[in-house]
Amino acid sequence: MPSKLEMSGKSVSLVTLLGRWPATRLYFQWGKAHASRFMSLPSELRRYIPSVNVLLKQDALVSALSNCPRWAVVQETRKVVDEIREGAIPLVHEKSEVQKWRAELGERIASRAKRAAMYSLRHVINGTGVVLHTNMGRALLAESAIEHMVMVARNYSNLELDLESGERGSRYSHVSDLICELTGAEDAIVVNNNAAAVVLTLSELAKGKEVVIARGELVEIGGSFRIPEIMEVSGCKLKEIGSTNRVHLSQYEAAIGEETALLLKVHTSNYRVIGFTKTVEVPELVPLAKEKGVLIMNDLGSGSLVDLTRFGLRHEPTVQEALAEGADVVTFSGDKLLGGPQIGVIAGRAEVIARLRRNQFLRALRVDKLTLAALEATLRIYRDTKDPVVDIPGLRMLNLSAAELEIRAKTFAEKLSAGTGSNARISVLPGESLVGAGSAPATGLPTFLVSIRSTRPAAQIDTELRDMTPAVMIRIVDGDIVIDLRTVAPREEQQLLQALTTILT
Ligand SMILES: *Cc1c(COP(=O)(O)O)cnc(C)c1O
Repeated sequence: MPSKLEMSGKSVSLVTLLGRWPATRLYFQWGKAHASRFMSLPSELRRYIPSVNVLLKQDALVSALSNCPRWAVVQETRKVVDEIREGAIPLVHEKSEVQKWRAELGERIASRAKRAAMYSLRHVINGTGVVLHTNMGRALLAESAIEHMVMVARNYSNLELDLESGERGSRYSHVSDLICELTGAEDAIVVNNNAAAVVLTLSELAKGKEVVIARGELVEIGGSFRIPEIMEVSGCKLKEIGSTNRVHLSQYEAAIGEETALLLKVHTSNYRVIGFTKTVEVPELVPLAKEKGVLIMNDLGSGSLVDLTRFGLRHEPTVQEALAEGADVVTFSGDKLLGGPQIGVIAGRAEVIARLRRNQFLRALRVDKLTLAALEATLRIYRDTKDPVVDIPGLRMLNLSAAELEIRAKTFAEKLSAGTGSNARISVLPGESLVGAGSAPATGLPTFLVSIRSTRPAAQIDTELRDMTPAVMIRIVDGDIVIDLRTVAPREEQQLLQALTTILT
């Protein structure tokens, strides 16, 4: 098999390459680089350095090769030989120890090879109590959504096929009607995420025009979504009004001119301005927008379909409420409180959505079939079941009461104490869980935490927990390891217990 290297677009076989770059020179340079380290070892020890081939014959590696790809085993073996040469792995000094030492190296390489061959995207047990954690993938999907994704992945589907006529169909048709039915919107489309939804909507409705927004709503979300920059990439001119804490209807009125296309409301997802504040809500803006002939857009961010007060959280407008208030278009995420896949929904008046459907940019933001499958199944839960809280994992977690969590925490703490003995002091304390992803700013949910004090530093335990399979994420509070079982699935508890027991003892 000729090795091929890509060079400036042309593919060149390794043989030709070596022909162009004399092999002797290559070899000489490699030798020089390696010889210096090698030579620094006392000569009587050098002979104990195993070759790659010798190590590969160790029992541990022979068996590793049966369940681990060969590249990983060879790569880690080479690295270990290099580390021995560099002195990072100490050499044995006695001939009698050589066999045993090589066997140990074999074990070490086998475990490193297994690690090197692991998936990059891995299962993480979320012990932080942050339900929608952006760094841990936000919403977990409902079982029916997972099953529907698998069906669509495994088979051909009618993604863009109208089965009745046999003609070409629209991929959005699988979810648009459901969204309208659930939210009261006249029409809706979905794109890759809410950031894309905002950019597409702004660029279609207000490119080259002015967009009026209250200064207090110029949010930055997750470090990469900043309204001023989003306006710029959408080609809109930002017109800020009001002060950080207050804005008045008269200021909106004064700001609207010839160039104004849109009034934009943005949910201040990850902060709240409290104290001497005033905002202008959409119902107050509707008559003004009508009179001046401009549109109203509301970026809801999280966009829940259920009233959050049932979980004991502060009221946030649902998507239904936001549309009923009279905004022409609302945008929200699919993987925050909705509990679906990563998407952005654009829902609103039919003429507005029709304009978006014709926008060429929509093609670049179009969602994948797996995403659509997960979204369709998620939306059907809201339509078809008595209470979405039963099937949607994120909502189910938010719905866990402090009393239920106290029982779970105490049972868990007892089992952990039994396993760790005197190595750790374990207690159960009241605390707070967070919704996360800027979905319910400045409000937490009462919970009970399993708190662990070990003789070893918490930061070290934290590192080791992240290195487990599955990895474990915890909180550190005042030097203690703290775990909130709200975000740990009951099926994960045993694995979590195992990981903690292993590391603490
Ligand atoms: C989260 C959020 C976004 C970004 O949504 P993504 O789905 O993460 O792209 C935009 N606006 C608001 C108000 C948000 O809360």
